[in-house]
Amino acid sequence: MSATLPKADTRGAGAQPTSYGNYIDGAWVGAASGRTFENRNPADTSDLVGRFAESGPEDVERAVAAAREAFPRWRALPAPRRGEILYRAAEILVRRKEELARDMTREMGKVLPETRGDVQEAIDMTYYMAGEGRRQFGQTTPSELSNKFQMSVRMPVGVAGLITPWNFPMAIPSWKMMPALVLGNTVVIKPASDTPLSVVNLVKVLEEAGLPKGVVNMVTGGGTHVGAPLMSHRDVHIVSFTGSTGVGRKVSEACAPAFKHCHLEMGGKNVIMVMDDARLDLAVDGAVWGGFGTTGQRCTAASRVAVHTKVYREFVERFAERAKALKVGGGLADPGAEMGPCINEAQRQTVEKYVKIGRDEGATLLAGGRRLDQGPYAKGWFHEPTIFGDVDPRMRIATEEIFGPVVSVIPVDSLDEAIEVGNSVEYGLSASIYTQDVSSAFRAMRDMYTGIFYVNAPTIGAETHLPFGGTKNTGNGHREACVQALEVFSEWKSIYIDYSGHLQRAQIDTEVGE
Ligand code: NAD
Repeated sequence: MSATLPKADTRGAGAQPTSYGNYIDGAWVGAASGRTFENRNPADTSDLVGRFAESGPEDVERAVAAAREAFPRWRALPAPRRGEILYRAAEILVRRKEELARDMTREMGKVLPETRGDVQEAIDMTYYMAGEGRRQFGQTTPSELSNKFQMSVRMPVGVAGLITPWNFPMAIPSWKMMPALVLGNTVVIKPASDTPLSVVNLVKVLEEAGLPKGVVNMVTGGGTHVGAPLMSHRDVHIVSFTGSTGVGRKVSEACAPAFKHCHLEMGGKNVIMVMDDARLDLAVDGAVWGGFGTTGQRCTAASRVAVHTKVYREFVERFAERAKALKVGGGLADPGAEMGPCINEAQRQTVEKYVKIGRDEGATLLAGGRRLDQGPYAKGWFHEPTIFGDVDPRMRIATEEIFGPVVSVIPVDSLDEAIEVGNSVEYGLSASIYTQDVSSAFRAMRDMYTGIFYVNAPTIGAETHLPFGGTKNTGNGHREACVQALEVFSEWKSIYIDYSGHLQRAQIDTEVGE
């Protein structure tokens, strides 16, 4: 099958600009059309990271066919053996961590400490799910009848179509791939077009770890030409998507007619609540890293800070001072850089659009507000860390996801008002409170309708052995990571075994009743 496709260069992580193909049925192959697209470093667009296959429905068709064919063999492999392949993959990730992080900084722009964290999340998830090869616990329950045994077991679902965003280029693909694989599903993944190299690198690690051909397939290209045919393909049984709420809605609609398993992780507008008894040094530090870490391009970014009026003035002064002192720069060119560029020019323009909206809405600009395009910034998509104060919670800057380095500070008079403001948006991913009062912490923890909550820490930072995901327009009731991820990629089978050797009365009664 793949012999009909053009061959693609398969040089590894850290290589000079090269071309990278799709990975279909264990072979690296170019798009059927022969077309490619460029991926450039967002901190220095003269740096061509690589050319990637610009695929279309024909490539998706081939990848899904390979995954479908591999499924019976892969699901028949004992789960501990599947887990062992993941263990090997985790070991390779550990060895290559630095190289993979540097590739990621080059294609995505996050500074190195952050891309090391991204690769580490992939390592953690791969080890965690490798362990599930020996767990995947089901249930046994006592039967109503004598000499009867009953249990439930997990079954894989089939071919998983995975669609991922650019802001966590290796962590998020691993959060989806590893649980899918250890449960016995096969995979077709479509990475975001801004960060395909990190998924190429992850797939190469799995290949090296000994994953049989066809079990993981990767198709690069755009949402319309690759994502859409993948999610609506009749032989794709699960779609797991992370991205914007707008695209997530389309995924949900595409999955509905065939009743596909559909797992959605979408946008956020997260809040840090700073109470009048908070340690302001901690709260300011949390707002800086929660707001400007990953250039504000995290689903869990603290894009709102609700501050008690008693400490408001002092907080905003200290927060603005820290934001102005942040070192913006390219993560590879400038090892001291603390905040990288926006992912692309369109995203920077979105940031600029919201800065204008914030000014027009009457918010007070406390820091930043301008693009950075001179000197060392001339070739990248940089923007200043930006803070608006005196923000009304109904303003667009306080309700819409900007996904850039813009934080709205909202004055509040009480914990109740902070919680009301916090819950007033359409999203429900993450929230946090800074307080010394245990009662306030517990009340906020109970009343914030979010999937994740922090006390005296910013809204960011998750561990793989707790569920990850959001409420309202952030998610559709599923969770990533931990054992909850197993629910997305498996189905339950209940099994009744009668070893009495004769008809049992209660069972007959049930049958009659039906
Ligand atoms: P996006 O929705 O634009 O794209 C996500 C993926 O969907 C990409 O691979 C894209 O190519 C694909 N896609 C786009 N249009 C499609 C279509 N019509 N059909 C099928 N696939 C399509 O999101 P993005 O800009 O890559 O990422 C940013 C968004 O992701 C933000 O909203 C952020 O909050 C969200 N996000 C959420 C989480 C979470 O866990 N909740 C984590 C990270 C990012």
